[in-house]
Amino acid sequence: MSFLKQILTYLIRCAAFCILTFAILPAQAQQAPAQDTHGINVANMDRSVVPGDNFYLYCNGDWIKRTEIPADLPGIGVFIQLRDVADERTAALIEETTKSNAGAGSSQRKIADLYNSYMDEAATEAKGLAPLQPHLKAIADIKTKKELAYALGQTLRADVDALNNTNFHTPHLFGLWVAPGFNDPDHYAPYLLQGGVQLPDREYYTSDNEHMKELRSKYQAHVAAMLKLTGFTDTDARAARIIALEHAIAEKHLTLAENDDIQKANNTWTQADFSTKAPGLDWAEYFRGAGLTKQASFLVWQPTAFAGESALVESTPLETWKDWLAYHTIEEYASYLTKALADERYAFFGATLSGTPQQRARWQRGVALVNRYLGDDVGELYAQRYFPPEAKAQAQAMVANIIAAFRKRIDALSWMDPKTKAEAQAKLTTLYVGIGYPETWIDYSAYEVKADDIFGNVWRGMLFQYTRQVGRLGKPVDRHEWSMDPQTVNAVNLPLQNALNFPAAILQPPFFDPQAPAAANYGAIGSVIGHEISHTFDTEGSAFDSKGQVRNWWTPSDLQHFEAAAAKLAAQYDTYTPFPDLHVNGKQTLAENIADVAGIAASYDGYKASLGGKPAPAQEGFSAVQQFFIAFGQAHVTKLRDAALRQQVMVDSHSPGEYRTDTVRNIDAWYSAFEVRSGQTLYLAPAERVQIW
Ligand SMILES: [Zn+2]
Repeated sequence: MSFLKQILTYLIRCAAFCILTFAILPAQAQQAPAQDTHGINVANMDRSVVPGDNFYLYCNGDWIKRTEIPADLPGIGVFIQLRDVADERTAALIEETTKSNAGAGSSQRKIADLYNSYMDEAATEAKGLAPLQPHLKAIADIKTKKELAYALGQTLRADVDALNNTNFHTPHLFGLWVAPGFNDPDHYAPYLLQGGVQLPDREYYTSDNEHMKELRSKYQAHVAAMLKLTGFTDTDARAARIIALEHAIAEKHLTLAENDDIQKANNTWTQADFSTKAPGLDWAEYFRGAGLTKQASFLVWQPTAFAGESALVESTPLETWKDWLAYHTIEEYASYLTKALADERYAFFGATLSGTPQQRARWQRGVALVNRYLGDDVGELYAQRYFPPEAKAQAQAMVANIIAAFRKRIDALSWMDPKTKAEAQAKLTTLYVGIGYPETWIDYSAYEVKADDIFGNVWRGMLFQYTRQVGRLGKPVDRHEWSMDPQTVNAVNLPLQNALNFPAAILQPPFFDPQAPAAANYGAIGSVIGHEISHTFDTEGSAFDSKGQVRNWWTPSDLQHFEAAAAKLAAQYDTYTPFPDLHVNGKQTLAENIADVAGIAASYDGYKASLGGKPAPAQEGFSAVQQFFIAFGQAHVTKLRDAALRQQVMVDSHSPGEYRTDTVRNIDAWYSAFEVRSGQTLYLAPAERVQIW
């Protein structure tokens, strides 16, 4: 995984359907995300540029000129800066819990104990490998493949997520995701996903690329080093066998692109099916170890991988599997054991694999840890402190206006079948848009946190999450449930719940500012909200109906018309050439470009409706409509190194920020607001402007 990709996936836990990959967007002012003025940032603009020639530079030129990319980053963006702000706020809240001296078992006490148990490096070092030893001994004591199957079942965790936060990677043999069922969206169902490798994806094992080959040899040295640090002998040979097994597992895996296919993933297997469809592993023992004996059936996302991995359990010697299991256990807990192990882990996975020479400060990693295991408890404090009810009400009113705008646009479509329109409207009716924070919070009372036991706190934290998810199986679905903490800088589309989440930490400048003119808020976060809504009924959203059930509700003729309009937009993006030898791939970025043009169009309508016919104030000489479009352009500014930009153009489903901004040329109101005329670079004749919804 490249550094850029790593940053993207790290920052943007995107839904399969959307994403806000304004991944690397700079804030309005590099030094200080918090600005004194509200609304558009005039100081970032380059007013010498003609808006109709280069709107992106017009909005952002001065910021681009004066901002330097930090030496250790591929680019600079508002997400990194907003994340730092959220971390600092969260750290301050944690510090308050420490000072409060709250009673044992209280959530304040737990937050303080979890954080401090991580921060106390000396105590962790003093314990050495002692916390790990009983687990390594249990693995060493495994005598048969049957016992191995039970032990593998015990490692199953709720650590993957196919559609919401899209995480297809687990180092455990398989991963569990509990979510509304594909075929019974009213109840929670268990999805099982492929797993078993440490490197990020199968490509890392199978690619012939020189860079990957070099990574693999460094990986082998790393595995041997981890085994040596925990007292194993013959570590080179063990490492070679472990990696050969991981390679064999990876070859059975589906690719990331194949994982996106919902129809292929919709496979219901009863417990009995596993032994016939995926023979090799003792499945009864596996499910007993996982505490899932009573679960009648599962949704198996990648049947061929399950068959392949299960066969490997039979065909690979027991001793190799035991080494694999020991190494995977060591790796998983290395950051909570000795400094030597933690450093070796970072040297490979942080520095070598992702190219990040320096670790984040320990306090930031401590905040991330608390967010991971007590995220809602901290989130509740965060929301109370940083997201007042007035801000929530204001954002909700925006959402209502944007949804109403979509309704009108869908009604006005000439090409869409009335039945398809009715289902699209039904999806808007049942769409839940979560703003700021969830309506209910996770109850952590069953999670035991001890003041001096970071290893145990993490072990029990993962187990608590797993037990909690298993406990929900078969129960009614809460469509208003969130999949992100309020302190997360991101937004997410939850297709099975027909829901969107916009956490408090992204609802801040430059995206959203309760004190800014409405025009700026609609141009920035409003367009993002519109973008996400668009995904719920485009070609991707058409796989799920208004109840979240897997059912294609488009007619073939709808699809035909949609594709014709979309082809026009793809051709428009094909003309963008960031490098003489490389142009934007209109097809690859099509779904996101459609969402962008739909998002800004609907947000603009919503904004106009919000005024109720009243005039809106100018800011520093810019009319309200001008502010709307400038705020949109400023929310997309991105400064990337050439190599990173090249890579984004080649692999990302989103266009670079400059061209995302250029989509204003499809909106009639932009022409009149900036007096854009024929002959200017971005000018399109009315018939060439693309309108999808
Ligand atoms: Zn999107």
